Amino acid sequence: MSLSSRWLTLRAHWRAEFAVYTAEDRDSAETRARHLHTITRLTPLMAVANVLNGALVAVAYQGAVALSHRLLWLAVLALCCGVASRGSWLRRHGRARASVKAVRRQVQGAVVLALLWGWVAVMWFPLGGPDQRLLLAALVVGMMCGGAFAMAAVPQAALAYMVVLTVAAEVALQRVGGATMAQLQGLLALYLLVLAGCVLNTARVFTARLVSEREAARQGQLVGLLLRDFEENAADLLWEVGPSGQFTHVAPRLAQAMGRTVAQLQAMTLLQALTERQPDRPLADGSAASALSGHLAALRSALTHGRAFRDLVVPVAVVGAGAGAGAGAGARWWSLTAKPLADEAGRHAGWRGVIADVTEAREAHRRLAFLAHFDSLTGLANRVQLRERLGQALSRPDAGPRSALVCLDVDHFKRINDTLGHAGGDAVLVTVAQRLRGCLREADMAARLGGDEFALVIADLPPGPAGDDELRGLARRLVATLCQPCTVEGQQVPLGVSLGIALAPEPGGALDEWMANADLALYAAKEGGRGRFELFVPRLGDRHRRRLALEQGLRSALVNGEMQLHWQPRVALDGWRIEGAEALLRWQHPELGAVGPAEFIGVAEDSGLITEIGTWVLMQACEAAMTLPERLVVSVNVSAAQLQRADFARIVDGALARSGLSPQRLELEITESLFIDGATAALGHLHALRARGVQVALDDFGTGYSSLAYLRRFPFDTLKIDRAFVRELMSRHDARAIVRTIIDLARTLGMHTLAEGVEEPAQLAVLREAGCHAIQGYLVARPMPLQALRQLLANWTDQSAPAAVLAPEGQPAPDRTVALRRLASDAF
Ligand code: C2E
Ligand code: MG
Ligand code: MG
Repeated sequence: MSLSSRWLTLRAHWRAEFAVYTAEDRDSAETRARHLHTITRLTPLMAVANVLNGALVAVAYQGAVALSHRLLWLAVLALCCGVASRGSWLRRHGRARASVKAVRRQVQGAVVLALLWGWVAVMWFPLGGPDQRLLLAALVVGMMCGGAFAMAAVPQAALAYMVVLTVAAEVALQRVGGATMAQLQGLLALYLLVLAGCVLNTARVFTARLVSEREAARQGQLVGLLLRDFEENAADLLWEVGPSGQFTHVAPRLAQAMGRTVAQLQAMTLLQALTERQPDRPLADGSAASALSGHLAALRSALTHGRAFRDLVVPVAVVGAGAGAGAGAGARWWSLTAKPLADEAGRHAGWRGVIADVTEAREAHRRLAFLAHFDSLTGLANRVQLRERLGQALSRPDAGPRSALVCLDVDHFKRINDTLGHAGGDAVLVTVAQRLRGCLREADMAARLGGDEFALVIADLPPGPAGDDELRGLARRLVATLCQPCTVEGQQVPLGVSLGIALAPEPGGALDEWMANADLALYAAKEGGRGRFELFVPRLGDRHRRRLALEQGLRSALVNGEMQLHWQPRVALDGWRIEGAEALLRWQHPELGAVGPAEFIGVAEDSGLITEIGTWVLMQACEAAMTLPERLVVSVNVSAAQLQRADFARIVDGALARSGLSPQRLELEITESLFIDGATAALGHLHALRARGVQVALDDFGTGYSSLAYLRRFPFDTLKIDRAFVRELMSRHDARAIVRTIIDLARTLGMHTLAEGVEEPAQLAVLREAGCHAIQGYLVARPMPLQALRQLLANWTDQSAPAAVLAPEGQPAPDRTVALRRLASDAF
């Protein structure tokens, strides 16, 4: 590195070192002021020392230097010291900031002082004797050292002072000359270097300290600001207590929340304040008052042990809205987190911490926990809790009391929901839950499994028949209570439930098996007519297995050619002619034998296989119709599940197109269940098909829910009066009245009527008299294969007459006209 570049580096370093004395920024100005203040503080002392030293020199040089010179010099020195002291007095309180000029003035003052003493050294030193020289040398060195250290805070001043004084001292020594003086000159130069080093170092340390002090002060201000902001605005509250637990710092909001003034709270301990504000009633999450003290005990123990703690939750009755930890008034949960404080000696000095209001979080947590185990609508246990309870019951020793599981469904709940809307449906479910609670003992449990499914665990049933009796008694009470109508939105709603009951399985039995048993019993109760209960017996399991076998078999029945259509003719009473025939599905199961549609259609509907089967029936029926006389209409039964499919109309069109059957010769039979299970899409199909000429009949009319209302929802071509009414025609007057009303109503609405299941001529007579258009039933013929139907049609004449004797299935009915006429006249 060249000399000039080395010099440049040194200068840059020097400038950086002394930047604080030259920079115009605020921080440098503040640092300069602190530096100058350090010197200013010492100025009076230095002035006195200078004047005293000056006087000492003046006296010592008596005889060597003229009095006038000595007095003049002393006067100038005293004047300079006086001016400096006055300046320091005026600036005794220090300035916030000092300019670069002020530093320069300080340097100039230091130079003046050094010149005064340097002049004495240069002029008087050679004049004095050895004692005088020694005194002056000692004084000058002392002045050099003292001055340098006093002015170290402003190193430029200290260096200028030292350099001027040293140069003067060197000149003085030079003037005297000699070996000793030369040595002293060298020593003096060395002094200068050492002193300069010390001064620069001291100045650097001093500046660094000031910078860090300023930084610390700035951070302190920031923290103070943040804390103030935190205390005023943040949701959490700050607190600080001394070693005895007494408050040393109280945020105003904390005092407000506690219903006290800051001063009052400061006179209390944290524990006293919290104890005083313990809620006297249980909190929203159900914590009992006795449990509350437990929370405080935990806090007390944490404070006693002196360890930092986190999230210690205590209940507090907060005063004043919006006061406590950012939340409203009332019973709240506060979470305390704190650290112990220590003084300089490391002794425990108290605690500092924050309070956070965690009421909402606890409430949300509690709600989640509730939802995990309870049903939100009814407040009953949910499936999870039910399974836990059943698991416990199963793990009990087998000799003790038994438990039973009751599965319960609200009958026709979907219909209730559709009629009353979801809010009404919910109200019904809540009523059911209330009634269930009312019927159970403390040890029992009621749960809602979802939708309209409920379950009960009946505990502590005595073993043996006594337990069975108790269970039946309870089941009867449940049915009686739950089947009472209920009032929803001022409307009376008929309510029915079906119950399936299963006792806990034998030891080793599985929970799922238990639930499946109760489900089977429930299924049986529904099948048995609803509004009743059924106890599980193994036979029900057989039924279930049969159902599974049917479902399994149905999957391959069509492919295996196990399905066949039978035909039941319908006869118009006007002229006794066969006007149509109904296609009825028959299934020959390879193992179970003949299975009736009443049994397997439901299975097909539940398993979704009905679409495929129904499509096959439609195709077969349309093709068969093409082999029958043209005047004949073929009726095909259609399930609601088929009609709800988007492509139903297309399937019908396909069957008609493929067979070439005219739409007028096809009649679709639907049941009222269609209206119950949401009919919008289905009715759309029916309207479209009817517009193309396809006829639509309402099957099994009278067995549904509120049948008459449905008649206005679709312009049916034919109304098929259910067999149940026809059967009771002869035994019950009200049945006869109902049938007459139905026929009248249908006539008013422009619909044909057909009575199903007509077995006796007397029934026929009543129906004819009531104005029924057609009949279908064993009186005419049983369902038969297509070939047999063709034969029947071939032999049929309008002179064919119903007879009192029923023909076996597959055989045409014999001529029964005479008997019919006789029986009909008997009936009226
Ligand atoms: P449904 O449509 O009301 O058919 C009339 C049922 O009454 C037939 O029973 C028939 O054999 C029976 N029946 C007719 N006359 C008499 C009588 O005088 N006395 C008695 N006791 N019964 C009589 P089946 O064939 O067992 O059919 C039962 C039900 O199965 C049908 O009732 C219908 O709802 C359904 N079904 C039959 N075939 C099909 C089908 O292809 N598709 C659909 N979805 N359902 C079908
Ligand atoms: Mg039918
Ligand atoms: Mg029917």
